[in-house]
Amino acid sequence: MNRFDFLLFLALFFFLSPCSQAQYTTNNTPNSFFGDRGEVYFRFSGTSASEINRLSHIISVDKISDQNVFAYANKKEFENFLKEDIPFTILTAPGLLIPEKELQHRIPVVKSGNMIIWDFYPTYQEYVAYMVGFAASHPDICKLDTIGTSIQDRLLLAVKISDHVNQHEAEPGLFFTSSIHGDETTGYVLMLHLIDYLISNYGIDARITDMINSTEIFINPLANPDGTYYGGDQSPYGATRNNINNIDLNRNFPDPKFGLHPDGENWQKETQAFMNYPDLNHFTMSANLHGGSEVFNYPWDTWMKLTADDTWWQWVGREWADTSQKYGPTGYFTDMNNGITNGYSWYEINGGRQDYMNYWQHCREVTVEISDIKLLPVNLLETMWISNYHSFLDFIEQSHNGITGTVTDSITGNPLCAKIFLNGHDMDSSEMFSKLPSGFYSRPVSEGIYSITFSAPGYFPKTVDQVEVHNNQAISLNVSLKQNPFSINDKEIQSLRIFPNPGNGVFEIELPAND
Ligand SMILES: [Zn+2]
Repeated sequence: MNRFDFLLFLALFFFLSPCSQAQYTTNNTPNSFFGDRGEVYFRFSGTSASEINRLSHIISVDKISDQNVFAYANKKEFENFLKEDIPFTILTAPGLLIPEKELQHRIPVVKSGNMIIWDFYPTYQEYVAYMVGFAASHPDICKLDTIGTSIQDRLLLAVKISDHVNQHEAEPGLFFTSSIHGDETTGYVLMLHLIDYLISNYGIDARITDMINSTEIFINPLANPDGTYYGGDQSPYGATRNNINNIDLNRNFPDPKFGLHPDGENWQKETQAFMNYPDLNHFTMSANLHGGSEVFNYPWDTWMKLTADDTWWQWVGREWADTSQKYGPTGYFTDMNNGITNGYSWYEINGGRQDYMNYWQHCREVTVEISDIKLLPVNLLETMWISNYHSFLDFIEQSHNGITGTVTDSITGNPLCAKIFLNGHDMDSSEMFSKLPSGFYSRPVSEGIYSITFSAPGYFPKTVDQVEVHNNQAISLNVSLKQNPFSINDKEIQSLRIFPNPGNGVFEIELPAND
């Protein structure tokens, strides 16, 4: 640490350390709380649930615990919060709690095989090198993908892990993404570990081999690199929640209730990249990893009403929480309802990625808070891995359960992009779609007997009744649809004539001539 940095550290210490925690009111000018950072972390209490939901439109609520609300704000948000005249306490930013020296990279220890012990935070350059290296060392099952770039031109990277990795196969797509909040870094290292674990065990461990052969697994360890490396590329010391524009990316997505820009901000470069990526890769399920709590937070975040698949979410969430509790330290992953919660019933979030993915991408995405401490000391990273990797593997396998199959043209056998709608069940965009080029679909759902309608433009819809589903099992249902020669498009509807009109029970339909 040079002299300038040391002085800065001292200044931040006195501004932000818990020792300086005092109740402030609007008499303080906002700038004094920020130091050289664009965001501030604070706490307040004694507010009702409806009040917190109202305030969540002004500031970025982080969590609610024991009547305390923890929140972040950029300068504009904080000025608005001060107008509320609510007493608050400034807290040390989670990214500044651990001394920089303890977060700096050290030489990794190689375990048996080629795997390393993931008990360190790589520098940004090492992170990129690891991602390149994973793909280079296992080109048959691991491919490097660039989701996009951040505002500061850091790479938003993912690897795809699957057999026939360069093809789009008839397999469920599973997406893991971490650290959209740049100072929630546990998942960042755990995702690097997961990639290493999967590719190192291919052909060795039967469960992992099966998983890779039958699933398209996409893993993005770091969704907000500018936030994580706000303090410099050498370590996550000084990491921020927000991106470099001081925007909370997990409030910046289109929202089912509040429309395209619920936070009143333009879509950030990172947001746009993560909106495009699922357009290119069909994901059945997704987990977005966070820190600050230990809980499986399932949709909706924005609506009080429950999803069509609430029972399924509780089932999958219970499995995740029970497994993490089993392998974790005593008391681990027990927040809210013993480790799971409906998002809205915890607190309302608008513009979160989870609801965007569920509503617009028809992907079952969950927000998983995996460690109470956001920027975890390096000596706890291995414990978090042991506590969680069984849950990661279970979650991958859940993408196979429910109803799966292909939808094809009855004559040509060509695969179709069809809507799969569970009658009397689906609502609020919970229907799913088969993907091209394979025509494959996977529809996770809790046990029950379903009536399913398959439909595609230009085809007669087909309904299959009495489809019986059991938890943790897959039922295969391949469907072929018959072309409808009389299918019409909007332009044709305008010139379509039905006569006589009014009719006498017998109608003649005149289709427009082809031109
Ligand atoms: Zn978060």
